[in-house]
Amino acid sequence: MFRNFSILLVLGLSLLPGILQALPVESRVPGGIALIPLDDKAAKATFTFNKKRVLISQERGQSYAVVGLPLSLSPGEHYISGKIKGSNAHIKKFFNVKDKQYTTQRINIKNKRKVNPYKKDMKRISAESKRKRKAASHWDDSSPDLNFLTPVKGIMTGSYGKRRIFNGQARRPHSGMDIAADKGVEVASPADGVVIESGDFFFSGNIVYLQHGQGLITLFAHLDSIHVDVGDRVSKGQVIGTVGATGRVTGPHLHWSVGLNGSWVDPALFISPE
Ligand code: ZN
Repeated sequence: MFRNFSILLVLGLSLLPGILQALPVESRVPGGIALIPLDDKAAKATFTFNKKRVLISQERGQSYAVVGLPLSLSPGEHYISGKIKGSNAHIKKFFNVKDKQYTTQRINIKNKRKVNPYKKDMKRISAESKRKRKAASHWDDSSPDLNFLTPVKGIMTGSYGKRRIFNGQARRPHSGMDIAADKGVEVASPADGVVIESGDFFFSGNIVYLQHGQGLITLFAHLDSIHVDVGDRVSKGQVIGTVGATGRVTGPHLHWSVGLNGSWVDPALFISPE
């Protein structure tokens, strides 16, 4: 009787947002996240992974480096490198990354130009890639809320990391999560943040980039409409646009990506299992 009650109590507490589930789920695989515990001395250092600044967060008084592991990372031993302010000392924290095989997805796109762009599209595409890279590597010292809201209510397809073949041609693996929803459904910001990039891009269609602090970036693509401007502060749950079918798509859905230290990781790791 008492035992059942305490189990219920623990379950109830673990669902309180932002109190106990302050960190994403750890998954030390390409496309996943490594949570590296840091002692008090190390927590004062600035850490980098592959030369990109790493987010530091706390849970129940313990500090962690929250390291985004790129999909292209090879399995094996890796490390983050720390530097303490005003000292020449370097700290290295090693961790192991396991292999993960992602499945292949074949997609047929009716608008062939979105798979094989015309010569005149290339200038636009390369200008947009430059803006995308800049947005993905944005750094701001503020501490982010890592307990995300799901941006739309829809069917999560679990398509992160899939190798993709468009109209029979291999393209880059899928760097985000596709959520199936009808055109016009509202898309909400998963956490407080600032709009750092937005536009109508060749592949992504109408896109919004948010930064939430310490290199944590979210992006929302293929939107029908955009309700925010670059520079706007958005609060958790605020509507930033609506689901659409713009850019390279087969139908309306939200493409949602989450970036850490310049790497797009699996957004599912930020959603509490409910
Ligand atoms: Zn997608």
